[in-house]
This record gives sequence, structure tokens and C-alpha cells, in this order.
Amino acid sequence: MTAKIINGKEISKQKRSELALEVESLKEKGICPGLAIILVGDSPASLSYIKGKQKAAEEIGLLFKLEHFSGNISEDFLLEVIDQYNQDDRFHGILVQLPLPAHINELHVIDRILPEKDVDGFHPINVGKLVTGQEGLVSCTPAGIIEMLKIEGVQLSGKHAVVVGRSNIVGKPIAQLLLKENATVTTCHSKTADLSYYTKQADILIVAIGRANLIKGSDVKKGAAVIDVGMNRLDSGKLTGDVLFDEAKEQAGFITPVPGGVGPMTITMLADNTVKAAKMIEAGKMKA
Ligand code: NDP
Repeated sequence: MTAKIINGKEISKQKRSELALEVESLKEKGICPGLAIILVGDSPASLSYIKGKQKAAEEIGLLFKLEHFSGNISEDFLLEVIDQYNQDDRFHGILVQLPLPAHINELHVIDRILPEKDVDGFHPINVGKLVTGQEGLVSCTPAGIIEMLKIEGVQLSGKHAVVVGRSNIVGKPIAQLLLKENATVTTCHSKTADLSYYTKQADILIVAIGRANLIKGSDVKKGAAVIDVGMNRLDSGKLTGDVLFDEAKEQAGFITPVPGGVGPMTITMLADNTVKAAKMIEAGKMKA
């Protein structure tokens, strides 16, 4: 059996054209969703992610602004910039590109963004809303994964989902979203004893570790849906996932490639969150 490859690029393309139509109709009502990205420092990886985010924003017609500061700005300065964007009605989404230089506390920065403009979905208020089942902004990578699984018609309810990784940005929120979809969820991490015992039971296997090719074909249940979040740059320069794709695709029913799987969808969901934020903020203004 060879798995169906989940084409994140194609799914993203479709989703972006739907978003473009939605933005067009919002503009007709006088609402232009705006996204501001703040970058501190010159990390080539961050610059490349932002390029992708800008492209998606422009493709769907968002107002887009990039604020790029040198790596030696102070935390106070950055917090003031965030305050300015919090007050700026043209921008419904604010994203501070992580990681930040070591002298800036990421938690202070995330806390400073207004929850309703937190399009990364990292603010404790949005995390709390996710856990308690309230509507809020959900972290982009997990939101994109659920969307891809649904589009592919993968059944989640009653299925065993195993998430490898427990980070705040991927592992924990995807576990919550899968729970919300009525999957039975197991979360594994670096201290899990006998990881493969768990992965082999997974109807849905989400891998977000950051270790190239750690999950082998023999770790995958026959017919499982395998979502590889990992992005690892090999010495050769090649980008590879956490799952050994060539082996795993012979076991799985569905599988995402790296690149071209989760990555494009993450960026698209940032645009989706910006549109969502704009609708929620503008609806709130009308009620007030
Ligand atoms: P983190 O480093 O924050 O978390 C990694 C998680 O993997 C931790 O929970 C860690 O466990 C666990 N882990 C590490 N080694 C093992 C192991 N040997 N066995 C089992 N679990 C292990 O990473 P992120 O969640 O931020 O990212 C994970 C990967 O996904 C990275 O490659 C990243 O680049 C990629 N990524 C891709 C995105 C995309 O859009 N495609 C978006 C976000 C991330 P413990 O908690 O015990 O340390």
C-alpha cells in the first residue's frame, strides 16, 4: 500500500483563493484586514519565513507591514512598538517573529499583544480559550493540520491520535484540537519510554520533534494518517521532516511531504487568522 500524499501546496492554493474572495467582500464593506509583522535581528530563517508570510498576505489582498529592527533593540522598545500596533486600527493582526534575541523575554512580548490581534494564537488568553472550547485565535500550524485532515476526509472522531512533541506552538495545541474533534489523544515527548509502542497504535500520527527522519516506516500503523511537522535542514542543504518519508509512505494511508505539506498551510492559516481577527474586531466595534 502506498499512502495518498497530502498536497499542502494545493490545499493552500485553494484556501488562499477562498480567502481572497472573502477579503474582497470585506473591502466592499469598508474593512481591509491588516497584518503587521515585527522582526528583530537578521536570522536568515526568519527572513525566509517572513517572505512567505508577506507573499500570502499580498496574494489574498491584506494590508501588510513589516517592521524590521536590529537585534540590539531593548525589550522596552519592542513593547512600545507592540503598543503602537495594538492601538492602530488599520492592523487587525500582529505577529512578532520568533525566536527573539536572548535579551528579550518572549513571554513578555507575547503577553503584550492584544489577544484579539494575536494571529499566532500564542497569547495565554487564546491558549485558555482553546483549552476551554471558546472561540479565539488558534495557533497556525495546528489549525492548518486539522484543516488538511478534514479536507482529505480523514476520520478523527473515535480514532487514536498520537502527537509526538509537546511544544506550546505545535504539540500542545494540536492535542487540544484533536480532542475537540473527539479523537482519543496520546501525547509523547523526549522522556516517553518506548516511543514506537505508541506511534504504532496511532490512527493519526502527528510528529513535531525537530529530529530528521526519527520516525521510521516500522513505527507507523498500516493505513494511518501521518502528519510530519518537522523541518530539518541536512548538511547537504536539503530540507527534511521528522518522518522517514520513503518508508512511512509504504505503511501509511495518508502522509504529508516535507517540504510541501504542513509548511504552506501554516502560512495560509496566518492569513486566515488575520481575516478572522478583522471580522471579530470589526463586529465588536459595531456592538459597542
Ligand atoms: P520544540 O523543540 O519546541 O519541541 C520539540 C518537541 O519534541 C519537544 O516536546 C520534545 O520533548 C520532543 N522531542 C524531542 N526529541 C524527541 C525524541 N527523541 N522523542 C520524542 N520526542 C522528542 O519544537 P517545535 O514544536 O517548535 O517544532 C518541532 C518541529 O516542527 C521543528 O522541526 C520545527 O522546525 C517544525 N515546525 C514546523 C512548522 C511548519 O510550519 N512546518 C511550524 C512549527 C514548527 P520535550 O518536551 O521532552 O523536550
